[in-house]
Amino acid sequence: KDDVKAFFRRNAFVIFTVAAVIIGIGLGFALRPYKMTYREVKYFSFPGELLMRMLQMLVLPLLVSSLITGIAALDSRASGKMGMRAVVYYMTTTVIAVFIGIVMVLIIHPGKGSKDEFKNQQKIEQVSPADAFLDLIRNMFPPNIVQACTQQVSPFLFQNVNLDRTSISLTDWYEGNNVKRRSVPYPDSINEAYFVLNGTKEQHIMREEVIPIPGQVNGVNALGLVVFSICFGLIIGSMKEQGKPLKDFFVCLNEAIMRLVAIIMWYAPVGILFLIAGKIVEMDDITETGGQLAMYTITVIIGLSIHAFLVLPTLYFVITRKNPFVFICGILQALITALGTSSSSATLPITFKCLEENNGVDKRVTRFVLPVGATINMDGTALYEAIAALFIAQVNNMDMNFGQILTISITATAASIGAAGIPQAGLVTMVIVLTSVGLPTDDITLIIAVDWFLDRLRTTTNVLGDSIGTGIVAYLSRHELQSKDAEMGNSVVEE
Ligand code: ASP
Repeated sequence: KDDVKAFFRRNAFVIFTVAAVIIGIGLGFALRPYKMTYREVKYFSFPGELLMRMLQMLVLPLLVSSLITGIAALDSRASGKMGMRAVVYYMTTTVIAVFIGIVMVLIIHPGKGSKDEFKNQQKIEQVSPADAFLDLIRNMFPPNIVQACTQQVSPFLFQNVNLDRTSISLTDWYEGNNVKRRSVPYPDSINEAYFVLNGTKEQHIMREEVIPIPGQVNGVNALGLVVFSICFGLIIGSMKEQGKPLKDFFVCLNEAIMRLVAIIMWYAPVGILFLIAGKIVEMDDITETGGQLAMYTITVIIGLSIHAFLVLPTLYFVITRKNPFVFICGILQALITALGTSSSSATLPITFKCLEENNGVDKRVTRFVLPVGATINMDGTALYEAIAALFIAQVNNMDMNFGQILTISITATAASIGAAGIPQAGLVTMVIVLTSVGLPTDDITLIIAVDWFLDRLRTTTNVLGDSIGTGIVAYLSRHELQSKDAEMGNSVVEE
């Protein structure tokens, strides 16, 4: 009996979270027949919206303080090595993910050319992969660090938006670093953070969809802040005694934020329950989804499953010789939070807790590697972007040659690095992949109907990829960390 009690106590969070998912799904389906209005659904899922806000509230201070303290705690040689390992892991897994995506979409071929061949290419302003990379690098160096905390410097801004308070037309949805930038005011609707998009063509969505706009939603230029924090941490670390007050400040800030996370974790199951139930209440009838879209969804699911259940665990096992599924059980709560929130950035606080407390990953590694991973390493998003782009090509009867497929792979990788860890950001960065090979950006509307669902799955894959990467880097860096501990005369990894 005591064993059972102890088990429940140890796994309380996971048990509550799994229960929340089950109850959320049940409640959602039970309420569906009542056909709630958009407004009613928003009221109903309010506890879920609160969870999102609470988690997002912590992301900025957590990201900055953990990176700075993580790096300042290492010497530049150790952090350099660790950084290299992490970057090699991110690049390798992202390339594998894109590859799986491309192979899957070519084999399954979900988009049977239903449209006439798309010829009107000159209408589309091509964004070259070089432009995509330049924009990515631009974002790494925000000209104003305060602004970077409040607004994402996104290459994907809206121009000539025809805003009638609650809707913008998707045809006007355009991007580019060379177009005139124009900021878009929020409509004062119930959910101020979102715009409601209306499809403009018959085969486009006939219903309203909600889509977030990076930089306008929870506006943080995470990439810029990551680069700044890494440099800042390195400098503070090298300043020895002189840098101590600043280091202590960030250590203390980090600890305080983590304590807030511990409190919010108790609320997380409630929030997740309502996020999931609310989504199920408002989703369209799945059986009405067209055959092509169903095939597309299945292709993405198969691709993500191969990456999440086969590639990543195998990689973890081969490198560490430890059971990957025990590791995955330890981060279950983070994975479910990702599923519920569709945001790897909002999940970050929970991922930290799971890795450090359940899986015992060294804090010096999580603090450094995890925030970087959550910002730039998005395997699920990269895989999905490759599939979506080729699906749209198939629908338009456009045969992609090897060069074009290569371009798609490169831009999908860049788009996944550039995508913010917020709901449906990947859908927005799709624009760059499509324009790079002259595919019609309007056709993003074809996949919007199922994106809320696929977004949840790819976000979960993103969080899994970041977590496994942190575990692998921690394992590979164990000798340096141990010798650092010996140097410091203690073996406990605490500040
Ligand atoms: N929602 C994803 C994430 O937060 C990004 C995406 O839309 O692909 O990781």
